Amino acid sequence: MTTSPPAMSEARRYQQLRAHLAYLKLNEAAEALPRILDAARTERLSLTAALERLLEIEVESTEARKLAGRLRFACLPEPWSISDFDFAAQPGVDEKLIRDLATLRFLDDASNVLFVGPPGVGKTMLSVGLARAAVESGHRVYFTTAADLAARCHKAAIEGRWATCMRFFAGPRLLVIDELGYLPLPSDGASALFQVINQRYLKSSTILSTNVGIADWAGAFGDATVAAAMLDRLLHRAAVVGIDGPSYRLRAHQNHASTLRQAVNNRAS
Ligand code: ADP
Ligand code: MG
Repeated sequence: MTTSPPAMSEARRYQQLRAHLAYLKLNEAAEALPRILDAARTERLSLTAALERLLEIEVESTEARKLAGRLRFACLPEPWSISDFDFAAQPGVDEKLIRDLATLRFLDDASNVLFVGPPGVGKTMLSVGLARAAVESGHRVYFTTAADLAARCHKAAIEGRWATCMRFFAGPRLLVIDELGYLPLPSDGASALFQVINQRYLKSSTILSTNVGIADWAGAFGDATVAAAMLDRLLHRAAVVGIDGPSYRLRAHQNHASTLRQAVNNRAS
């Protein structure tokens, strides 16, 4: 016998600890265990400190995994965040209001946000920015367009999955419905949209962006009663952000055009 009994049992205990961590699927902690034990020895960490350090590693990796899962689920079309938005370029936007929305307090009382404005003014960017903030602070978020939502509900109705589809759209703490009014909704689209809005009413927040001014909703839906009922739910508790500034897309385009023009002029002179 060369190994002394205490060393044996210590080695076995270490193996058992690794096995426990693996059984509990605390894989990051299992992997970090030798490193933390070494640190505990060399830095003379207390038992509490060593355990805290070990579990912190597992918590961080779990958080990262959950965040990635929520981001995947959310289907955000772009990686934008609120800090990417250039407020100086869009003086039509109330920066204070957007910063307030970015605190996500509106989720607490199931308030809605309505972005209204012509194409290119940043409605989608702001919606995505708020959605990303919500994902990052742990909320379940889903991004869709009005046309996609209508198509999905239509398909679900045909396939006898209407209730499941409605449950899906009721689920997220924040639902973003982009581009309402860009494409004409199919006949059953407006009523699907109404039902989604109605079942979320006072329960969870919806961000809706549209190029159709509120006064013109009746026309856009082809049904004044549905439009009025939907607006009633949406606006009961809502922040309405009207953006009527210049199109950022066109701005970039114009800058590009004027650079080209200048280059041509310089060459001519
Ligand atoms: P909308 O949804 O109103 O049509 P988008 O949000 O899609 O407009 O914006 C159009 C393009 O212009 C996007 O590439 C977006 O990143 C950019 N953009 C718009 N407004 C701003 C802004 N204020 N700061 C930075 N980029 C902007
Ligand atoms: Mg858009």
